[in-house]
Amino acid sequence: MAAGTVVRGRVFDLQRYSIRDGPGIRTTVFLKGCPLRCDWCQNPESQKPEPESVLFPGRCIDCGACTPACPRGAISPETRRPDPAKCACCGTCVETCPSAARHIIGRDITVDELLDEAGRDRPFYEESGGGITFSGGEPLAQPAFLGAALDGCRERGFHTAVDTCGYAPREQVEGFARRTDLFLYDIKSMDPERHRSATGVPNGLILENLKALCGLGAAVWVRLPLIPGFNDDEENLRATAAFVRSLTGRPPISLLPYHATAADKYRRLGRPCAREGAVAPPPDRVRRAAGLLESLGLVVLSEG
Ligand code: SF4
Ligand code: SF4
Ligand code: SF4
Repeated sequence: MAAGTVVRGRVFDLQRYSIRDGPGIRTTVFLKGCPLRCDWCQNPESQKPEPESVLFPGRCIDCGACTPACPRGAISPETRRPDPAKCACCGTCVETCPSAARHIIGRDITVDELLDEAGRDRPFYEESGGGITFSGGEPLAQPAFLGAALDGCRERGFHTAVDTCGYAPREQVEGFARRTDLFLYDIKSMDPERHRSATGVPNGLILENLKALCGLGAAVWVRLPLIPGFNDDEENLRATAAFVRSLTGRPPISLLPYHATAADKYRRLGRPCAREGAVAPPPDRVRRAAGLLESLGLVVLSEG
């Protein structure tokens, strides 16, 4: 990268006071773009790397202002939904709407802008042992920005965590091993075919990258999103435990129970929700899964 080049990243949210994305109180930075398409994804707005225009139907009073205001004729006069094929995310409709029913998801930001914003919570980080977590989407999908942001955090003394699905080239993953203080690393299923059918990619690269990171001595918390009917069966839990036990340093694991709150997000984006109507696993099922993993020799963290 040329000297003096300002790296910009694309984020879709900054969540302050998070207590679920690593130790202490944290700011979680959600980067846009992900190579996976998990059918339970709670952040479907994170998946595409491009900005997206969305409509919050519940807020629309059908005043009609946005349709003629759109310079590309992208807004339906009937539904007021934007046509992604025509929309250029110019933001005109957002400014026109009197009831805040329209939004653009995804904004470009420099590292300094990001860290100035996140840095306001420094006293909370210091008090609680917290810091900044880069999540998404998939933060490794914006490697130049992630690297610059991690280096900027280190210069400013912020603890960092990278929340990753692990699906990235090996050299890239290894390159980040010493640039972040912690990885939050998802394992979704030990079965390659089941993994492929629910996420769009097989799990081989993900598992091998995790093995490599642990071998390099990186600090890792494994996370297992607990998705009813997909990966919460005993066979998969036992296979996951055996794999994590085999990793150098035997990292701890936490369970992230599925929660059924994303259906509205899919509607706003005008996309089908593959798990429409699915319900969260009951607490006793989550406890049983945690108990099984513990009985198989893992340290189970209670986050999420
Ligand atoms: S963001 Fe711009 S192009 Fe897209 S729907 Fe709104 S006004 Fe039209
Ligand atoms: S401008 Fe806003 S309130 Fe009016 S029709 Fe469009 S989305 Fe609905
Ligand atoms: S890896 Fe995470 S962000 Fe990407 S599709 Fe899966 S659940 Fe969504």
